[in-house]
Amino acid sequence: MKHIEPKETTSLAPLLCQRCGGLMRLIGSEPHPTEAKTDLLTYSCTACEDFLVLPISIPATNA
Ligand SMILES: [Zn+2]
Repeated sequence: MKHIEPKETTSLAPLLCQRCGGLMRLIGSEPHPTEAKTDLLTYSCTACEDFLVLPISIPATNA
C-alpha cells in the first residue's frame, strides 16, 4: 500500500462516510483502468471502515 503525501489532497474537501457520517481517510490511489488522466482514490471510513472509491480527473498539465 502506497503512502499518500497530504499535499496531493489539499484541493479535495474532507469526505464524510455515507453510511455513518464519519470522516473518510484516503488510503490509496491508482490509475483508472480505462479512463486516461483519471485516478481512482480509495477512502476508508475512520469509524465503520466502509470503503469508497472516487475517480478524479488529473489536470493535463501540472506546471
Ligand atoms: Zn462510516
